[in-house]
Amino acid sequence: MAQRILLIEDERNLVRTLRAYLEQAGFQVLAAYDGRTGYAMARQEKPDVIILDLMLPEMDGLDVCRALRRDPDPTVADVPIIMLTARVEETDRVLGLELGADDYVTKPFSPRELVARVRALLRRLQPVGSGRARASARLRAGDLVLDPTRREVTLKGQPVDLTGTEYEILYLLMRHPGRPFSRSEILDQVQGVVLEGYERSVDVHIKNIRRKLGDNPRNPRYIQTVYGVGYKFVGDVSREA
Ligand code: CA
Repeated sequence: MAQRILLIEDERNLVRTLRAYLEQAGFQVLAAYDGRTGYAMARQEKPDVIILDLMLPEMDGLDVCRALRRDPDPTVADVPIIMLTARVEETDRVLGLELGADDYVTKPFSPRELVARVRALLRRLQPVGSGRARASARLRAGDLVLDPTRREVTLKGQPVDLTGTEYEILYLLMRHPGRPFSRSEILDQVQGVVLEGYERSVDVHIKNIRRKLGDNPRNPRYIQTVYGVGYKFVGDVSREA
């Protein structure tokens, strides 16, 4: 069955162009031209990916993203979101990531690039059994347990609600405890695409992970900043079958 993309974008010409490219790439495309309708469609249609413009009538992209991430239905709350932004201010993009967007693309962009980003996002969020085999050993560092089979992270037995991207970053670092990763390495491993100027987004994801794990960057139990390099996992990690 074709994967479904919901486009929430008020520029109809852009929707037309993107729809053509996405359909050409084998996706089924739904479209909404304002935030409120888009939000309702996201909840009803449960698309595989949402491409969400930041500046929208009725309800802006940040509000839509925030509302979706808080949805009680986990299939709605966990939907992968790519934000489109025309704004050049980094704060807006960073805010989108803080609200739980998985990725963002700055306008103007090539439709081909967006299609590549959608594919990369779906590839890395692919559940077990539907594609690449994943190592199944659970990784444990003290009270923190990451279960790759269930894509689940728990802290003291309580589930930690990470976005897909946050999960992938934590999984990468935990698989290689003690090894420092640069921001571009993290992006490359996690997103499959490295674009200039996106390194800052890694910092935002790391900040979110630390907050959710209650990890203090000044005295980290899990993720340590390696100055001039990037990040590494500092806890001892054991593997459990
Ligand atoms: Ca717009």
